Amino acid sequence: MRAERACAAGLPPCMRAPMSTNPPRLRPDIAPAARPDAVNAGRRPDQPSIGMVSLGCPKALVDSERILTRLRAEGYGISPDYAGADAVIVNTCGFLDSAKAESLEAIGEALKENGKVIVTGCLGAEPEFILRRHPRILAVTGPHQYEQVLDAVHAAVPPAPDPFVDLLPATGVRLTPRHYSYLKVSEGCNHKCRFCIIPDMRGRLVSRPASAVLREAERLAEAGVRELLVISQDTSAYGLDLKHARHAWKGREIRSHITDLARELGRLGVWVRLHYVYPYPHVRELIPLMADPESGVLPYLDIPFQHAHPETLKRMARPAAAAKVLDEIAAWRAQCPDLALRSTFIVGFPGETEAEFQTLLDWLEAAQLDRVGCFKYEDVAGARSNALPDHVPEEVKQERWERFMARAQEISAARLAARVGKRLEVIVDEIDEDGIATCRTMADAPEIDGNLFIDENAGGLSVGDIVTVEVEEAGDYDLWGRRL
Ligand code: SF4
Repeated sequence: MRAERACAAGLPPCMRAPMSTNPPRLRPDIAPAARPDAVNAGRRPDQPSIGMVSLGCPKALVDSERILTRLRAEGYGISPDYAGADAVIVNTCGFLDSAKAESLEAIGEALKENGKVIVTGCLGAEPEFILRRHPRILAVTGPHQYEQVLDAVHAAVPPAPDPFVDLLPATGVRLTPRHYSYLKVSEGCNHKCRFCIIPDMRGRLVSRPASAVLREAERLAEAGVRELLVISQDTSAYGLDLKHARHAWKGREIRSHITDLARELGRLGVWVRLHYVYPYPHVRELIPLMADPESGVLPYLDIPFQHAHPETLKRMARPAAAAKVLDEIAAWRAQCPDLALRSTFIVGFPGETEAEFQTLLDWLEAAQLDRVGCFKYEDVAGARSNALPDHVPEEVKQERWERFMARAQEISAARLAARVGKRLEVIVDEIDEDGIATCRTMADAPEIDGNLFIDENAGGLSVGDIVTVEVEEAGDYDLWGRRL
């Protein structure tokens, strides 16, 4: 694939002129986040994979990176070669005639080598020109239309999310709007939870240098992103593999450590939301940042607890002790009263007794988490939990799931009701044709948490705006508010 040639031997001759402002280290297809070894080492067998050929200027690079980031967040693998890709995206350049010719040549190569090709970028503004030469293309979109690109990818190669692995819910992958973006800080994981195949698929923790993460984040912020969702498999372990080495960033040295990284990300003037944070002791260092409204780091922690009974956690081989966690949560909330906690749980794990499940319900009551997701345990090919004895019957899993969700709903409703009358900052996600604005508070991550709706006086608002509202009403999962 063109990307491979560029990686191996600098820029290939056909790309030199238009890529002169696009040094190899900034190429999205060979940048650290998308390195074949880092990205594909742990590709699961049924994981759909997309190839990317990126031509053009740094603005096109931002689009390519955003497309790649979104594809990764949705569970796609990124293929370094045509053979391993289920479809190929060609991000074209159309600035000069020579660049147009080179783009057409790249499209032709992708069609010949792979056959399923989606074209985007500057030359995409002239679809007839492209389709005359290459009528077999699946879709053509113009520059910065990455959401349409993702639509085309979904149509050509449907996503196959894994509920234990991917951040986004299996209930349907929606497109990430321009005003927020996922930011992957590491790959892999050093733990060995029995229900999870990530360490086998993706290997041990490999963190990106802080400078690389910050550079990507800065470009996203410059491209209009207002909220960064920091993701990984284990965000609080970020930098462990690098021994928390320091990396130069804007004349300073930044430690590859989640606290330092979060602080620097917050300085970009965007909302910074942390996902997949395990309650290691050093998470305490993040709480003062979350308590400081000027830091940009949102008072939000997404911690996948998965269970609360010590024996179940032991069988799961989880890196956490639930009892201590309750004390930790209390300490965090004492320091940061607005802290929103979200988590996911698995019910019906092999060997889970009614007493163990009841402990989980009691723990949930004590922890008063703001948002929870719950999965019924199911075997995943290759997971060590498959071989555990005493699998829980489906009807028992279902019954426990319903009891768990009912309890979680009551807690959510009570916590939301307590917010009525408060003034909150919200980010606008969508404005429908009736003028109703769908927003999120700092306590709500996109796709997985609730919303705040402004159904009056939303005129003049735009997607991505951050505005202050007074909360007027609360439901089980959502709020309604009035713009101030
Ligand atoms: S901490 Fe456990 S569940 Fe999370 S990625 Fe690592 S092994 Fe999987």
